[in-house]
Amino acid sequence: MPAIQQEVLYAMQPETAPPAPSDGSVAPTPTAAASAAAPTDRFGAKDVFDLSWRNLLDAYSCTECGRCSAACPANLTGKTLSPRKIMMSTRDRLEEVGRNIDANGKFADDGKNLLNYISVEELRACTTCNACVEECPVSISPLEIIVEMRRALIMEDSNAPQEWNALFGNIENNFAPWKFSPDDRDKWTAEV
Ligand code: SF4
Ligand code: SF4
Repeated sequence: MPAIQQEVLYAMQPETAPPAPSDGSVAPTPTAAASAAAPTDRFGAKDVFDLSWRNLLDAYSCTECGRCSAACPANLTGKTLSPRKIMMSTRDRLEEVGRNIDANGKFADDGKNLLNYISVEELRACTTCNACVEECPVSISPLEIIVEMRRALIMEDSNAPQEWNALFGNIENNFAPWKFSPDDRDKWTAEV
């Protein structure tokens, strides 16, 4: 992910980061050494504003045929997740935002976001198998919205089950989900 590579680069080499804009002023132009890309405001999506225009158009294009949900292993095994509902919920929130903008001239914070429409339980039930995307007759990707929302949950809110945190720590430190040091990786070869 380029946005993450960039954040890591800025953390490791702060001199490459573009200067922060001062109050009310126009952001200074990054130095030649700095990346042309501005620091990422947010990882993943918390609300419809963070989704791509394609995701939003998808929400309006959904025919509600249900083929995605019929092929979804999470749905088939009784989980709360329905990719069809993901698209309908995204559209519902989008329409709510639209009505808000119509009423106020611009968006007035209503204290809500997409998580008021799509639950954490639904998001976590997805196996990212891609079946919903392959089944959709109009090439919609509910998966993309799910992944973006999960990304925000983890990277913005640190909202993960306790069991996952050990895994994240291991990946960060050991480059693998297990607790063993990378230096010990080839120890099994001694036995063969
Ligand atoms: S990618 Fe997720 S939502 Fe889509 S079919 Fe697979 S489990 Fe269901
Ligand atoms: S398969 Fe595509 S069009 Fe049909 S309900 Fe799912 S997302 Fe909508």
